[in-house]
Amino acid sequence: MNILVVNCGSSTVKYQLFSVDGKEEDFQVRAKGIVERIGIAGSKLEHKSDDQELVREREVANHRVALEWIVEVLADPKVGVLRDITEIDAVGHRVVHGGEDFSDSAVIDQEVLEAIKQCVNLAPLHNPPNILGIEACQSLMPGVPQVAVFDTAFHGTIPKQAYIYALPYQYYEKYKIRRYGFHGTSHRYVSQRGAQMLGIPLSESKLITCHMGGGVSFAAVKNGKSIDTSMGFTPLEGLVMGTRSGDLDPAIVLFLMEKEGLSIEEMDEILNKKSGVLGVSGISSDTRDIEAAAPTNHRAQLTLDLIAYRAKKYIGAYHAILGGLDGIVFTAGIGENSSYIRKSICQGLLHLGIEIDDQRNKVRRKEAFINSDQSQVKVMVIPTNEELVIAWDTWKLVGK
Ligand code: ADP
Repeated sequence: MNILVVNCGSSTVKYQLFSVDGKEEDFQVRAKGIVERIGIAGSKLEHKSDDQELVREREVANHRVALEWIVEVLADPKVGVLRDITEIDAVGHRVVHGGEDFSDSAVIDQEVLEAIKQCVNLAPLHNPPNILGIEACQSLMPGVPQVAVFDTAFHGTIPKQAYIYALPYQYYEKYKIRRYGFHGTSHRYVSQRGAQMLGIPLSESKLITCHMGGGVSFAAVKNGKSIDTSMGFTPLEGLVMGTRSGDLDPAIVLFLMEKEGLSIEEMDEILNKKSGVLGVSGISSDTRDIEAAAPTNHRAQLTLDLIAYRAKKYIGAYHAILGGLDGIVFTAGIGENSSYIRKSICQGLLHLGIEIDDQRNKVRRKEAFINSDQSQVKVMVIPTNEELVIAWDTWKLVGK
């Protein structure tokens, strides 16, 4: 069976084509790629398969045109891996927000699509392109089953005292203001792999999973279930991110809006696009640039210190609510690559049984243990694989 996994962002469509012969271990990536700059001048497609790699440029007005192009390349007689589009048996879509309705992946029918549309006001930047992708695939491949895999779903197990904010309760009832959490597909994947690496049953494991990329979120995962996570009502809460502030005193927002005469849009832009690593360092949102600048630039060093300090606080908090800890997992761009940041987060945590081994911590982008021999808690690097989880769920729901 061939499963196309689609991840539609506001100006990009990322895709991977999997084939599976009937067992979970057998998922094979046949091709993958990205269409960039949708609706902007200079659109292009990058495509990779086992023996082919290509970059092409073409006008791409919208997501439908992007998906038509992807399918065309997948079935191209020279560079493609399929005979034609009818060889695609199912499509799995990443959908950012599933609200309170979805604590699992779902086969997309009219009712499910309506429910995803209802979540647009909770994720106004993310759900609309996801919906465009679903509708484009429905019309390009009529009758082919489509599955939605939600970023919020894995956190559907968080208990109420962890997801209710201490605001007047009517706002939860009226607007569904609560913690949802994001990056769920990634936290789910690395927590499963983490338990496997530890050789303990997932159903008896206590893990903290640290997804650190452009966006950053940590999750406390007990017995395979998320019991708390750092992102909240939106992906703005929690840790220090590339351009997002993470936690702050909400009164600061009111103060700044008044003092600087800022509109809602301007304040939103400051919190989401101009804060975090970029805002504090004044250099870049990319931690590689900050690590390079830190030896001679005190604000770059301060930014790194801030990242590590807040991460430590979350690890302490999650250690407390988990009631013990078997392992910590680092994943995504920073988590998989930055020895410096992993080390600075774990430094000074031996009283919690956490210590990193400098030699092992040199690892990049591959599964490894990086804890010292005396560390009671195992510290792991696990490259995330959200596409594989989407393909698994699609197969489980419509292929098995
Ligand atoms: P996104 O969250 O945007 O999907 P990634 O998970 O790939 O992306 O993370 C991207 C971020 O990872 C970059 O902004 C950069 O800060 C960080 N990163 C990538 N490689 C390294 C590295 N070698 N050292 C430090 N940080 C890195």
